[in-house]
Amino acid sequence: MEKNLRTNSLSEIERVLKTRLIHDTHELAKRLELDEIVTPTTEKAAKITPTLFPESLLNRVQKGNAEDPILLQFMPSPHELEITPNFSCDPLCEQKLDVSERQTASSSPSCIMQKYYGRVLVITTNACACQCRFCFRRYFPKNRALFPLSKEQITGSNEDESNVSALLDNAFETVRKDDSISEIILSGGDPLTLSNKRLKTLLHYIGTITHVKRVRFHSRIPVLSPHRIDDDFPSSEDFPPVEVGVPRVLHLVLHVNSPNEIDEGVAVALSILRRKGFVLTSQTTLLKGVNDDVKELTALFEKLINLGVLPYYLHQLDRVQGSAHFETTIASGREIIEELSVRLPGYAVPRYVREIPGRLMKTNLFIDRDVD
Ligand code: SF4
Repeated sequence: MEKNLRTNSLSEIERVLKTRLIHDTHELAKRLELDEIVTPTTEKAAKITPTLFPESLLNRVQKGNAEDPILLQFMPSPHELEITPNFSCDPLCEQKLDVSERQTASSSPSCIMQKYYGRVLVITTNACACQCRFCFRRYFPKNRALFPLSKEQITGSNEDESNVSALLDNAFETVRKDDSISEIILSGGDPLTLSNKRLKTLLHYIGTITHVKRVRFHSRIPVLSPHRIDDDFPSSEDFPPVEVGVPRVLHLVLHVNSPNEIDEGVAVALSILRRKGFVLTSQTTLLKGVNDDVKELTALFEKLINLGVLPYYLHQLDRVQGSAHFETTIASGREIIEELSVRLPGYAVPRYVREIPGRLMKTNLFIDRDVD
């Protein structure tokens, strides 16, 4: 029963994403002519954190290259089984962040977290189009999502939309009461695994909270499966101004780590998003063996600015257990930023940051030399 529900749910996600999802490590390796890299140890790693890879990304991976910078991000590795001191299952201490204590209608854990002044983050869904092996939310509780993984929740296909209104009323109760909150960040999982209908319902609902001026999506999907961005995708019309002449802002932060991820299909998806009124910025995680190289990052950020996307954050790896093999030193990250600043226009050089739990803002590692 559970298995059927999961199968059905995932096929619904595949329909939303407009691509098949590969769950089998053997299939992924075989299609890339790399059968030999699947071993009992990689299989053990995939049991802990299952493989998930969108078929739409396959043709951007070089066949026969086990060190391909895209593949390394998604292929289970024997290193994931190593336990590393100072790495944890919740490196940003997010599981303690919860606005439900401030709510009256519910005592269950909330899908909404507040880390910084004026902004809240919504775990919209636990579904994703991929499984990044360095994901800091890979151990995040599944029951904290607004629309947890199920067919009806993702597609908006259940008839009784009154349930959804009650769900949203409950989830956003604190936000509605707190007029210091001007921005809502839709995260996950990946919010773009939700159907256009679901996303529009969500935007229309948020639109009724008049003090919210900006909605920001965090997504990897325009890169992973660019056809997902279709003509029916939400636009600024789904988040209209409260006052005439004072527009509200839709913003999408694109997660992208390698210049090889960006092809013509991605360029089209980004141009549709811009046409629909989205402000586009990017975030990149600095990953050893993937992009810890000035040439690679220069190519990535140049491609992004040429497509109208401002590189915003370069993240130092969040220390989630099983990802230590991706970690670079902060000293080498600073050197990379220095070199990028010579090669690129200032607006193309992202802020090199780390999130330190409890701090009221992200720490800029290039400026704050006390952190190492
Ligand atoms: S796309 Fe983001 S949320 Fe999804 S697995 Fe990757 S890092 Fe995690």
